[in-house]
Amino acid sequence: MGAVSELTAAKKVVVKVGSALVAGEAGPDAAWLAAFASDVARLRARGQQVLVVSSGAVALGRRRLGVGRRKLTLPEKQACAAAGQSALMRAWEEALEPHGIAAAQVLITRDDTEIRRRWLNAHATLSTLLALGVTPVINENDTVVTEEIRYGDNDRLAARVAQMIGAEALVLLSDIDGLYTADPRSHPGAEHLARIARLTPQIEAMAGGANASAGVGTGGMATKIMAARIAQSAGCATIITLGRRPAPLAAIEAGERATVIEPSVSVAAAYKAWIAGSLATAGALVVDDGAARALAGGKSLLAAGVKAISGRFDKGDAVLINDEAGHEIGRGLVRYDSADAEKIRGLKSDAIEAVLGFSYGPVVHADDLALSARAPA
Ligand code: GLU
Repeated sequence: MGAVSELTAAKKVVVKVGSALVAGEAGPDAAWLAAFASDVARLRARGQQVLVVSSGAVALGRRRLGVGRRKLTLPEKQACAAAGQSALMRAWEEALEPHGIAAAQVLITRDDTEIRRRWLNAHATLSTLLALGVTPVINENDTVVTEEIRYGDNDRLAARVAQMIGAEALVLLSDIDGLYTADPRSHPGAEHLARIARLTPQIEAMAGGANASAGVGTGGMATKIMAARIAQSAGCATIITLGRRPAPLAAIEAGERATVIEPSVSVAAAYKAWIAGSLATAGALVVDDGAARALAGGKSLLAAGVKAISGRFDKGDAVLINDEAGHEIGRGLVRYDSADAEKIRGLKSDAIEAVLGFSYGPVVHADDLALSARAPA
């Protein structure tokens, strides 16, 4: 029923919290944050990993710098973000600390999610924070981004984070409990949509029409649908529900009204499709027949099976994997740069450390490998 299973089954959950929830006229909303922190603690106790995308820097900075509600120039907005971001983090830390949860501030720009090397770096940082049991509290780095390269709204930023980290659920806390066929405030007959399997042009039109600016903050329903589209193709369910109530995640679990936009693929399939289709390859590995068979059987590519290396690549780049006859077997993300790969080519796994001084394990892990249709059975 409702969005319960999407939320409780997800191993990784990204929750987007808008300015209106955390930053009131009187400063941070400590009561709301405390109740939300109990949500985070409950999910973590169940073994789920939670990432928070929190707005509110500009709103809190306005208050701190005393600029009131007037329209701000970009530099003023950036100054407010700089002053408000630390207040925002303090509020999050104070809310999470009583549960023994450490928060970590992560400020992201659009390039971090779109430029491959920056993506890898941001991905590694977020993964490490999660592995260390820390709760990342993410915002756009408003202080340094210029208008042209901003996300501008944290809905899409949150969807990109969900995609980057392979989250199964993205919760967008809104000022309305989901998507309606029309804005329910002006259309009393508007129907609530509990579940959307496909984002059809009709659905987009609903969100883009009367509903477009439903909601305070930067993102109305239209940006939420854009975010859901990103999440959907990354294998992540989007849950839109009312944020302005204590412990909104508990409300979702209790079956309160929400809209679920279902993913169109699994996270793993989306990741493999991304490796297969969206990345330029920086080099190639030629593997022997034994390795080719192992890869077809779902195994990782070990250094022992690598016969030759071409191109120059860095750790994390996409490479082609070819058999000895020159046929493409697949594409994968390599764990060693080309110089190191050359040094360990043909070696048994336990000999790698003696040569390099470290070992990252297989040259291409099975999880990071997309086999081509042509692969031998
Ligand atoms: N990053 C902005 C802030 O923290 C908010 C963007 C949004 O409202 O989506 O103030």
